[in-house]
Amino acid sequence: MQDINKFVGAHVSASGGVYNAPLNAKAIGAKAFALFTKNQRQWKAKPLDEKTIEKFKTNLKESGIEPKHVLPHDSYLINLGHPEDEKRQKSLEAFIDEVKRCEQLGLDKLNFHPGSHLKKISEEECLDRIAEAMNITLNETEGVTLVLENTAGQGSNLGYKFEHLAYLIDKCEDKSRVGVCLDTCHTFTAGYDLRTREAYEKTMNEFDTIVGFEYLRGMHINDSKPPLGSRVDRHHSLGQGELGWEPFKFIMNDPRMDDIPLILETIDESIWAQEIQALYDLVEK
Ligand SMILES: [Zn+2]
Ligand SMILES: [Zn+2]
Repeated sequence: MQDINKFVGAHVSASGGVYNAPLNAKAIGAKAFALFTKNQRQWKAKPLDEKTIEKFKTNLKESGIEPKHVLPHDSYLINLGHPEDEKRQKSLEAFIDEVKRCEQLGLDKLNFHPGSHLKKISEEECLDRIAEAMNITLNETEGVTLVLENTAGQGSNLGYKFEHLAYLIDKCEDKSRVGVCLDTCHTFTAGYDLRTREAYEKTMNEFDTIVGFEYLRGMHINDSKPPLGSRVDRHHSLGQGELGWEPFKFIMNDPRMDDIPLILETIDESIWAQEIQALYDLVEK
């Protein structure tokens, strides 16, 4: 029975303190989780103190979840591709601080959305700014992999094409600390179908050719409210949206998704425990 190599969890609450996140994960039967290491809607956060860090590590150990199966998410305010220098700098500083918080907590990844050009600069200029920010961050930190999330491409958000992710990886000097997180909702609304075996294989082959599975460090497991290619980012509970259950069955039986965090960001947290179980039930014995 212990030959299941899938590590499923959810983006759990860290309210009251980051050390609550592993407990919240354990309570829903998760074997992985995501969290914000600070309030995601504020620029400033007080530094993590020794007690908080120790408590987090103790609770993580107790949860039985390995640090490599934790996928912290950065603040929504950060835009590493911001067209204005002052605002880009503010984002970069906040980003470096978030990577350092991960380091302190003994975690080895930080998941982030690449950035937005805000219709003021070209896509390529924006990607270059993001890559530059990633390189500065890699130089000033250690041990944490920067995990680019593919996006739905809503508004002026970049990262909706696999080519964007490949471009950024290519520009990064230390590729050993760069990775990718594929969000199923974003993948689908960005125009890559996943609903049939054929479509799933086509999309995954495209990902492998353009980016490469060696960079896949995690996935976000979400159904989608909007249709294929709509470029709108609205998650749904599993099986209740446009994706249905098939893509999740493919993922749960795909060895390329072994040993990485598979994180629910679905809209009804009261059914996360059931969704996690439902995903494990899809594994073919
Ligand atoms: Zn996501
Ligand atoms: Zn999303």
